Amino acid sequence: MDLQAGAAGWGLAAVRTGLFIDGEWQSGDGSISVVNPADGAVLAEVANGTPHHARLALDAAVRAQEAWGRMAPRARANLMHAAHRLMLEREDIIARTMTLESGKPLTESRAEFLLSADFLLWFAEQVAHLHGSYATSSQGGCRVVVAQQPVGPSLLITPWNFPLLMIVRKAGAALAAGCTTIIKTAQETPLTGALFTEILEEVGFPRGVVNLIHTNSSAPISDFLLRDPRLRKVSFTGSTRVGSQLLALGAENIVNCSMELGGDGPFVVLDDADVDLAVEQAIICKFRNAGQACVAANRIIVDRKVEGDFTERFVAKVKALTVGNGLDPVDVGPMISARQRDRLYDTLADLTRAGGEVLTGGRAIQRPGFFFEPTVVRFDGPNAVICNNELFAPIATIFGVDGVDEALDFANNSRYGLASYVFTRDLTRAVAFGERLEFGMVGINRGIMADPAAPFGGTKASGIGREAGHHGIYEFLEQKYMALTVGDLGVPA
Ligand code: NAD
Repeated sequence: MDLQAGAAGWGLAAVRTGLFIDGEWQSGDGSISVVNPADGAVLAEVANGTPHHARLALDAAVRAQEAWGRMAPRARANLMHAAHRLMLEREDIIARTMTLESGKPLTESRAEFLLSADFLLWFAEQVAHLHGSYATSSQGGCRVVVAQQPVGPSLLITPWNFPLLMIVRKAGAALAAGCTTIIKTAQETPLTGALFTEILEEVGFPRGVVNLIHTNSSAPISDFLLRDPRLRKVSFTGSTRVGSQLLALGAENIVNCSMELGGDGPFVVLDDADVDLAVEQAIICKFRNAGQACVAANRIIVDRKVEGDFTERFVAKVKALTVGNGLDPVDVGPMISARQRDRLYDTLADLTRAGGEVLTGGRAIQRPGFFFEPTVVRFDGPNAVICNNELFAPIATIFGVDGVDEALDFANNSRYGLASYVFTRDLTRAVAFGERLEFGMVGINRGIMADPAAPFGGTKASGIGREAGHHGIYEFLEQKYMALTVGDLGVPA
């Protein structure tokens, strides 16, 4: 079932299209077509997994858990370092594959690739540095010994919008912590996950430690796995709707859950901001990945004193964005699917009905593939029309506000709490504003934040837990407390 990509005209090497279970590439039950969103052509057929395959993967992950969790940290780290080295050799094929199946411009795929490699390295570096502790109990006579132990077999469910980064950020932490894994790719972008899994296989991860499942029907698989008490962890990135369903399912067996969910990023430009910088960063923050990012600027909130200036320069830059096939040197690629593109007509109707004025764009682009024009909609003042709704599209909304208080109130008017942004030249103001933003992450004078050293995650409906940073690995570890009786020369106290 392997796809000879060269034969399919990609000019790339072969990509595995099976499921990877217990160290073997296997066929599934039927197949899933992977479509290039830039032209609608079918790129490959990958194996479709069912609960039967999920059970085989869990069996394998459970069998492998004990040995993997007990392997010397240095040995685990060595495997991860080897994976990092091999990954760096495969930048071209991975980046091109990401562009082909997700549509994002090749420059963005390369940036995602390099960031993902850096995340893998970050986790590899942490494996041998996990600390326990040893303390005297408050009553004396006993010692409190605390060790870190892997949570156990983990299900990692990932979305299509960052097909490599989301997998590496989860699998890197899980593997470093000593957990065995079942990686569930998004059905739109399974090939990137397959390329990453192949790297782990090639460098010698023991069988069962890494399992990979693609499926066109996710719910039965997660239902099955979360009801099996042998699964100890689910780490999910995706919509708040599905995250909430998984939390409910996980409640039955009290499964350890980490959730990276939706966002409604307010991007605030205060009256003393460097407007050129704010415009440049707003373009990246909004139009990267055609706006299909959880941390994208959803609401651009601009103090009226600089709103005219900001809007004029922003719209000029949006009009200059080039849109097309991500393999060509373009700024913006397609939406992931026809359905995602077509829903934007309803979105725009909602925005204009609520008083928004379309300053540029507003239509699908008539060519093969799922393209939509980079669009700007301006509102005269704060408007709750998209508070709580992710646009997830190349549509920017601008809201004029009067002063810091109105900006802050409107920014916080959301059920979400993932990424937020503030632009000001005054550091004291930036810190005071940032502290009052009810979001897990605040970009100060920058529109991009993901970094291996940073705890990525949100508050409120944006999720539970953090990925990466110094604490991300602890999402896959549990503390084991051992009470140690001590006495005088072996006589218990
Ligand atoms: P989605 O929730 O539909 O899908 C995400 C993943 O869950 C996919 O693998 C999908 O196949 C799977 N899935 C769908 N239904 C499921 C079910 N019932 N049970 C188990 N798995 C299921 O989200 P999407 O549309 O693919 O991705 C976009 C969403 O992801 C946006 O809301 C975005 O904000 C969010 N996201 C969040 C982060 C973050 O780190 N917070 C990062 C990227 C994307």
